[in-house]
Amino acid sequence: METVAPFKEIIEVIKENGGDSFKYCYQCGRCDAVCPWNRVTKFSMRKIIRQATFGLTEIENEGIWRCSTCGTCPTNCPRGVDQIEAGVALRKLAAEYDVYPGHVAPIRNVVASLTSEGNSLGGDRDKRAEWAKGLPVKTFTEDMEVLYFTGCYLSYDPRMRQVAAATAKVLNKAGVDFGILGSRESCCGESIRKTGNEELFKRLAKDNIKAFVDAGVKKVIVSSPHCYHSFKNEYPEFMVNFEVVFISEFIAELVNEGRLQLTGEYGKKVTYHDPCYLGRHNGIYDKPRELLNKVPGLELSEMADSREKSLCCGGGGGRIWMETPKEERFSGLRVRQAVDAGAEVLVTSCPYCITNFTDSSLELDEGALQIMDITEIIQAVI
Ligand code: SF4
Repeated sequence: METVAPFKEIIEVIKENGGDSFKYCYQCGRCDAVCPWNRVTKFSMRKIIRQATFGLTEIENEGIWRCSTCGTCPTNCPRGVDQIEAGVALRKLAAEYDVYPGHVAPIRNVVASLTSEGNSLGGDRDKRAEWAKGLPVKTFTEDMEVLYFTGCYLSYDPRMRQVAAATAKVLNKAGVDFGILGSRESCCGESIRKTGNEELFKRLAKDNIKAFVDAGVKKVIVSSPHCYHSFKNEYPEFMVNFEVVFISEFIAELVNEGRLQLTGEYGKKVTYHDPCYLGRHNGIYDKPRELLNKVPGLELSEMADSREKSLCCGGGGGRIWMETPKEERFSGLRVRQAVDAGAEVLVTSCPYCITNFTDSSLELDEGALQIMDITEIIQAVI
């Protein structure tokens, strides 16, 4: 296949975006051994890195779109290669040349929706706060304790709106003085950045930063690990500084401070899935488990791959917007692991994980596994 981008350009773009750590690769193959793709089909990050070293990667290659940026290979690479950055740089070139394989093409619609409406789901911007209709949720003002940044999926997706409502109920029960930005909120931009669209990421980030500054926001709580990652690790590139707290950490604090009492019973066997962008990318493993262990009656068990070894749901890196054949979905393996761990409920705290697991759980025997967000469990016992 003919290479669209000149070799030299490929090497330069990777260097610009991710430095030249790929040059330290000594082809040990550890990345391939740990990559979740090799549990469902064949994929070689090692090969992509070798080709990148010589500028030989073809940007038409569908392989460059496989990576879900789960963070497993960089955390296992003995040479400190940043495979995610190298992969994103290749996607950046593909995006510039508008070269998308068939299953990646839906990204064009996502880009259009993000550009015109500030969300990835094709919803109208002025309907962003519709999930809160009829609920005691206020518009954020400067004197409030925290901003609740709802995020795209919790604002528009019907299943995830239930999680937003559960969150509002929990915060209200604890007497937290919180508000939302509604139509002034835009997508955090984390996932579109991983598809190589740096320009759109910057635009979304700047829109949010302006909205935060204008509204006088100092502390933000988020329900998506992707928003968390972006605000905590990427927005500081714009020289802004505000406190960001993940919802499960925030609720754990409320319980520890005695502001929220867990009085009900939740007599079910539960297993907790670490979302990649909360666990591997940000090191949050203990707080969600501590919180679940405080729920009366709840029995917590661990899956075969947990904490640092957590098996990706397949939704990161923009994969949530791409077509993945059923037999190649990691989420199918993960729901099976949850059942094998004896769980009745697979609990997590990421809209992509919940979407993918809910889909895959339909393949199991009816009612074999419930997929829930951690705030929904807390809602049930307050
Ligand atoms: Fe290269 Fe690191 Fe992969 Fe080994 S694990 S093949 S050093 S990128």
